[in-house]
Order: sequence, then structure tokens, then C-alpha cells
Amino acid sequence: MHEFSIAQQIAQVVFRTARENQAKLVERVVVVIGELALLNEEQVRFWVEEIFSGQQITRGAELEITLRPALVLCSHCGFQGAPTSVGPEAHFLTPALICPQCGQLGMAIKEGRECLIQRITFQK
Ligand SMILES: [Zn+2]
Repeated sequence: MHEFSIAQQIAQVVFRTARENQAKLVERVVVVIGELALLNEEQVRFWVEEIFSGQQITRGAELEITLRPALVLCSHCGFQGAPTSVGPEAHFLTPALICPQCGQLGMAIKEGRECLIQRITFQK
């Protein structure tokens, strides 16, 4: 149920931001999920829409989820880019990141672990 708590956090930020901006309606929310965030996009979408549909202000809001590719840095050879071992299964397991250049393990994740709200559009 990791996705449910993430969805709750997203919804809380949307509700708070809407209140702070005295918005009447939330039209559109853009969420960015990193490839290595270990989140199931469809489940996040399901729960956010579930929470949104329960509140007047977000009922009918459009939810857009963008996946951000991973960016890793190899401490052995200095390679920076996409890791080789990220597949669909990486969303369910902690991926072992292998450097595509030198083949060593132990790459630092620079991007791809985030889950953030990129944009919220209101109607006032
Ligand atoms: Zn390397």
C-alpha cells in the first residue's frame, strides 16, 4: 500500500495549494514519478483519482503522470547516464544497478527516485 500513502500525500499538497490560492476547482495535476521510485503508476493513478473524486474541488480534475527516466553515476569509472538493468520488473524489486560502461555494481542514483507534483492548474 505504498502507492496509497503516496497518493494521499499528493492529494494533500493539491488540496492545500488549492486552498492557499483560493481556487474554486482544480483542473489539472501533473505528477512526475521517477523510474526508480518503485511505484506502480497505475496504482498511484487509481488512488489519487479515488481521493480526488471524494472532494468537490478536485472532482473532474485531470491527472497526468509522467515517468522520468533514471540517471545514475558510476563511482568506478565516472559514467553518467541510464542504468542497464532497469526493466518493468524494477518497479517491484529493488533494482541492482550495473554500470553499462565498466560492469561494476554500486552506482549512485542522481535522478529517478522522485515522486513530485510538477504543476497544478486551477480555476478561480
Ligand atoms: Zn562504471
